[in-house]
Amino acid sequence: MQHKLGLMRKRETSTSEFRSLLAEISMLLAYEVTRELPTHEVAAETPVGPTTIRLLDGKKIVLISILRAGNGLLDGMLRILPSARVGHVGLYRDPTTLQAIEYYFKVPHEMAERDAVVLDPMLATGNSAVAAVRRVRATAPRSIRFVCLLTCPEGLEHFHREHPDVPVYTAAIDSHLNEHGYIVPGLGDAGDRLFGTK
Ligand code: URA
Repeated sequence: MQHKLGLMRKRETSTSEFRSLLAEISMLLAYEVTRELPTHEVAAETPVGPTTIRLLDGKKIVLISILRAGNGLLDGMLRILPSARVGHVGLYRDPTTLQAIEYYFKVPHEMAERDAVVLDPMLATGNSAVAAVRRVRATAPRSIRFVCLLTCPEGLEHFHREHPDVPVYTAAIDSHLNEHGYIVPGLGDAGDRLFGTK
C-alpha cells in the first residue's frame, strides 16, 4: 500500500498511472474496511461433502462516493464487493470559506439494513467528510465507516469531533494542512490528478 501511495505522490506520475494505483489501493482498503463486518454461518455442500460457510449479515453494503474524487475509489472497491450498492453525495468546496456545499444526494432504499462505507481519497479539512456523513447518517444505515487514501491530524480531529462513532480507514496520516486546505506533503488535488483536469 505504501509503495503504491508513494508512486501516487510523485509529481510526474501520469493520470492513467494515478488512476490505476488508486484502484489497486482501494482493493486493499476494501479488505480492511470489511474485515470486521458481522457474518453468520450457513450450511452448504461442496462437491466433496457438507460444510458450513460464512456469509455477511444483512443486506448489501452501500458504497457512497463523495463526488468527484470518491469515484476513484469505487472501481477497486466494487471489484472486491461486486454486489454492493452505490450512492453519491455531490459536494463542492467553497474556495474562500472551504465549507462543503451540497448539490446532489442519492442513496439506495432500505438503508436501515445496510452498512454504509463513505469514500473520499482526501480527508483534509474534514468539511466535506463531516457534511457527507451527516447526510448519510440521516438515512439511518446499520453502520457507517469512512475510507480515504490520505488524511492529516487536523482533518481527523475535526471528523472525530463531529462523528466520534465512525471509524476512519486510511493508507497514511500526513504532516499537516496548508493555508489552502491541501494536505502536506499529500499528492496535490486528487480529483485533478485522477481525471486529468489540470
Ligand atoms: N483535496 C485534495 O484533492 N487534496 C488535498 O490535499 C486536500 C483536499
